[in-house]
Amino acid sequence: MTDPAAPVSTPRSLRVVPPARHPRPGVGGLDEEDVAGMIGELGEPAFRSRQVADAAWRSPAADWDEITTLARPLRAALAARLRFDTVAATTIRVADGGTTEKALHGLSDGRLVESVLMHYPGAADRRERNTLCISSQAGCAVGCPFCATGELGFERDLEVAEIVDQARHARRRLDAAGRHLTNVVFMGMGEPLLNLDAVLGAAAALTDPGRFGLGARHVTISTSGVVPGIERLARLRPQWTLAISLHAARDPLRDLLVPLNRRWPVADVVAAARAYGQETGRRVSYEYVMIDGINDTAADADAVVRLLRGSGAHVNCIPMNQVAHTPWRASAPQRIAAFAERLRAAGLGVTVRRNRGQEVGAACGQLAAEQAGEPTAPTVARRHELLVAASAVALRGERSSEPAPPGLGPPDRPPARPVGVGRRLAPAARRPPAAQGGRR
Ligand code: SAH
Ligand code: SF4
Repeated sequence: MTDPAAPVSTPRSLRVVPPARHPRPGVGGLDEEDVAGMIGELGEPAFRSRQVADAAWRSPAADWDEITTLARPLRAALAARLRFDTVAATTIRVADGGTTEKALHGLSDGRLVESVLMHYPGAADRRERNTLCISSQAGCAVGCPFCATGELGFERDLEVAEIVDQARHARRRLDAAGRHLTNVVFMGMGEPLLNLDAVLGAAAALTDPGRFGLGARHVTISTSGVVPGIERLARLRPQWTLAISLHAARDPLRDLLVPLNRRWPVADVVAAARAYGQETGRRVSYEYVMIDGINDTAADADAVVRLLRGSGAHVNCIPMNQVAHTPWRASAPQRIAAFAERLRAAGLGVTVRRNRGQEVGAACGQLAAEQAGEPTAPTVARRHELLVAASAVALRGERSSEPAPPGLGPPDRPPARPVGVGRRLAPAARRPPAAQGGRR
């Protein structure tokens, strides 16, 4: 007999391992001022900064050696201080007739993170889009049981350059195909708002006209509901699109599906998201992964309506991608359509999304999980049993007695002072290596 109180959200491992800090930062984490400072220190004329920036942000070069506009001694001096790329190796898998490319990036300490590039051809009424989904952490501490990354557990935060370099890789591949990066979504591995300083540094690079030059509206930050992070984003008041991973509108079920709900209940998450919408004038979108018989009933739809009515919110219904360690399946298309219709009838904006790249493991973290080795059959069977028991409890409307997962950060407190968007968040290359780095 399964103990319904047994922990179901504890991932396969909780490898909270401090990152092996690389002595040389990545050039992708530096802004114009940082590069200019380094060029000055090397005694080079100021125009060299522009050449370095061109190489980093616009050229097809993938290494210092390929930048022939710079003299060999300068290339060597730069290479001694900075990595051109923080990604050591990338494997690409293509799906959907070439319109989806899933990249598995190996970082310098061997950690694996994923990015997914999706091509949406243009039509008479819309422009072509090339959207990149990027990771902000290796693994994730939140532990949503339907998510392959959650199952991996938290490994470490990514640095600004490690986030940005996923986009630099995609930019080089797109350039080669005569295409442009148009949108970036923080919907890969990890919880962006639990690594917010680095995510803000990466967002600054993405929206800086001298680097990627994307409009802030074309950058989406997705969160499972880290309330202090949403509040901090609202205080910054940029125009990023905020996406909330809702998945359930009632606390008992959300405690199970998104375990940080035990720390920040859904009503608080939605209140913070509404405030974000009011501060920024931007519509907040809500992601809702549709799981057969778990969160897709008429009662679930009505609970979503009660929670979101009048907020101008938009709900994206997404069929669950199958992952090995859950007994759950995606809701059938008719069931998704009925759910969406119920929301629509109540005045909410709704889109039913299709999953991209299913044949290459499109759910975030699936490739990295594969590399980590699939759990053994008895482990999978035990996980299934626990989830069946826990969902039965949640569906009866009983709240979980499990604590929130560890690793969600320190107790909430008001920030000492708001951080301006323009503040320098990239690691300063001029600091000696020992002083570099943020939260460790
Ligand atoms: N941690 C953040 C961002 C990364 S997850 C968040 O949760 O919002 C990005 C999105 O992928 C989330 O909405 C998440 O719920 C969804 N996702 C994760 N696993 C999935 C699966 N198996 N099928 C479909 N969507 C999934
Ligand atoms: Fe983390 Fe998001 Fe996956 Fe949940 S869905 S485990 S928050 S990456």
